[in-house]
Parts: sequence; C-alpha cells; structure tokens
Amino acid sequence: MKVCRSEVELRQVLRDAGGPVGFVPTMGALHEGHLSLVRRAREEADLVVMSIFVNPLQFGVGEDLAAYPRDERRDLDLAETEKVDIVFMPSVEEMYPPGNEMRVRAGALGDILEGASRPGHFDGVATVVAKLFNVVDPDLAFFGQKDAQQVAVIRRLIEGLSFRTRLIVCPTVREPDGLALSSRNVYLSPEERTRALALWTSLQAAAEALRSGDDPTAAAAKGLDFLAAQEGVLPDYLEPVNPATFERPQAGEDTLFVVAAKVGTTRLIDNLLVQRPQQPESTEEI
Ligand code: AMP
Repeated sequence: MKVCRSEVELRQVLRDAGGPVGFVPTMGALHEGHLSLVRRAREEADLVVMSIFVNPLQFGVGEDLAAYPRDERRDLDLAETEKVDIVFMPSVEEMYPPGNEMRVRAGALGDILEGASRPGHFDGVATVVAKLFNVVDPDLAFFGQKDAQQVAVIRRLIEGLSFRTRLIVCPTVREPDGLALSSRNVYLSPEERTRALALWTSLQAAAEALRSGDDPTAAAAKGLDFLAAQEGVLPDYLEPVNPATFERPQAGEDTLFVVAAKVGTTRLIDNLLVQRPQQPESTEEI
C-alpha cells in the first residue's frame, strides 16, 4: 500500500498504476461502514484509492473539528488489511492553499435539513469532493447511504460540474441493535449509546405508520413524537423527502425518512427508505 501526502505524488502514482480506479473518500476514524465501501470498491475496481482528510470546510463554528477522532496509525493498518492500494492523506495546507478561497456552492439542496442546521456544510463537502475527484479522477466513487443528503449533493455535483465519475451508493452498516455506525458514536457515554437507538426506532415508527396508510407528513410526525418523548434526546428534524431531490415526496413515490437529533452533545443522523408498493403483475388470462 502506498501513502501519498501531496497531489503531485498522488497524480504520479496514479499515472504509473493504470486500471479502473475506485475511490472511497473518508475523514478517517475508520469503522465497518467505511470498510464496507472499501470492500465494494475492491470488488468493482482494479485500483482502490482511499482519502483520509478531516475537511475543515465542512465543519461550522462551534462544531467538533478540533475534537474529531483521529488515529492515523490505526486507519492505515485497517486500510492495509482491506487491501487499499493508495491512501491519500493531505494536510489542510495541501488541500487549501492559504489565500486561495475558491469554493463550490451546493445550492438550494445544501441549504435545507442538514444544511439548515449546519450552514456551509455542503459547500464544504462539495468543494472537497470536487478537488478530490479532480486529483484522483476516479471511474467509480463509493459513498454511504448513511449520509443520504450528502449522496444527493454529490449526485448534483457530478452532473453539475460534469465529472465522469460514476457514483455507487452503499447500504448503511448498523450495530446489531440497529444504531448506524458513525465516527461520532465514540463520543457517546454508555447511557447515551442506549438512548441513541431512538433515532433508528423513530424512523421505523414513521415507516410503519406510512405502510399502515398515513401520508408521509403524518407518518413522520409520529416518528418525531416518539423521538421527542425520549429522555436525553433533542430532535432536530424527522422529515419525509424524495430521495433524489429532497423535496416533499408525492403520493405513491418512494419516501426517504431523514432524522437528526442530539444525544447529549453529540449530533447524529440516520435515514430509512420506504419504497412505494410494487404494482402486482397482472395474472389475468387473455
Ligand atoms: P465520513 O468519514 O464520516 O466522512 O464518511 C465517509 C464515507 O463513509 C461516507 O460516504 C459515509 O456516508 C460513509 N459511511 C459512514 N458511516 C457509514 C455507515 N454506517 N454505513 C455505510 N457507510 C457509511
């Protein structure tokens, strides 16, 4: 496995390597969710590139940039075990040359839900991913469904800025009880860890209500009521959206329930897709 810390070095290594490139961008503190993306990339590409970069642009004032978990040695060991070919670990100065303030804007999609609570977050995500795509020039890029709005933003980024990269969305990896894996779960005390399961339970409550005939808004309200009733959990939102546009789902469309809540001081997100009922095949004899 090769570790590159500068763009110049990475471009050189990629030029020498050749073959379809699969790319897995991360902020490190690797867990099974990240590794599931790497394993999928390993299946689909010849050359697997992972980036590890805690992107300051996607953290707001007062967020956990300084405290964000970092463990370079452990991350590199895990990447090696999973047969990553190249790890790109740039410094902040390498990614953002001082004095250069060129940025990508995510637009309206970046201003709602997660973007409303974290102003500038998706501009930061779009900017770093655009830069990484330019340097790595991947054939395939692997992102987790865990961050559903990020997936929608990346889809727009690829289309809007004409990247040739194909987006592959991988399912959310969960703990056995259903809690979505997240690098931020390490912040949770044992008691908070138990309480954090309420995000997943609230999504299931919303999905159940939708399947039982509630409209998406009413179903989401039921999930939110459940979440709001939990001690030590402060809901931010639980909303039904169209998974591609993040607008209100129309009747009969797939509905993605997205949730964000603070458990203690830790902000967590999750989501659950309810696919519209498939029309039964006609069995009528002619
Ligand atoms: P992060 O390091 O949090 O920026 O995440 C890097 C990538 O891993 C993103 O595409 C995330 O959506 C993905 N990811 C994070 N947690 C999970 C999870 N539990 N299951 C699947 N993918 C995940």
